[in-house]
Amino acid sequence: MKTKKLQKPLIGISTNQYILENSPFAGQKRIYINRDYTECVLKAGGIPFLLPLNTPLEAIEQQIMAMDGIVFSGGQDVHPLRYGEEPSRFLEAVCSERDEYELEALKLAYALKKPILGICRGLQLINIAFGGTLYQDIGHQIPHQSIQHFQKAHKAVATHSVELVPKTLLASIFETNHLITNSFHHQAIKDLAHGFKVNAMTRDGVIEGIEREDSSFLVGVQWHPEMMIEKHPEMLKLFAAFVSSIEEQSGSE
Ligand code: MN
Repeated sequence: MKTKKLQKPLIGISTNQYILENSPFAGQKRIYINRDYTECVLKAGGIPFLLPLNTPLEAIEQQIMAMDGIVFSGGQDVHPLRYGEEPSRFLEAVCSERDEYELEALKLAYALKKPILGICRGLQLINIAFGGTLYQDIGHQIPHQSIQHFQKAHKAVATHSVELVPKTLLASIFETNHLITNSFHHQAIKDLAHGFKVNAMTRDGVIEGIEREDSSFLVGVQWHPEMMIEKHPEMLKLFAAFVSSIEEQSGSE
């Protein structure tokens, strides 16, 4: 039987929110995403679709069902009460509305077997959703932590080494066990969620990537590959593998 020509996968991207100041619209809430994400999804062969964080809980299932894969994007700290901790003095901005939306969207996306890619906060969110915890501030909470994980260099500049764990999906995607990445985080995984394995680490012991074994594609990375692709086109491989996993899944149905 001839297979029907596949349409390009529709990739939902979780969004961020800020409140406008000093303008005629002061107080206005604006939902947005960095354009790097949509550029990257397009370059990887998908069609990007923004997922507003104010979607009512009862509408999220229909929203996620309509997507072929979901990217959980970077942004604020997840509120630590979500993993059973009180906020530390070193916690930065949080957005509880976003936490609520994304945790529900992630739960549904996993239940519906949608491929999932987490970037930075997205990796942290995945870990929390499956029962893991975070260091609320790595500089204050990890002894002997020494590497600059919130770089001062431009977003596209690769600043620290990341060792990929051999025989993981991530290592097979990048076809190497060593990367140099950008780094824009002050938090990191403390207790890894059950069912996940670490696929990337820095030399100071900070977890830089995780993946889940029982999923077709549930991968999180702590760095921002989408910000690097102009100078480091190999970073597109992660998005390309994510989109291909969707095409393989629909091709086998
Ligand atoms: Mn880092």
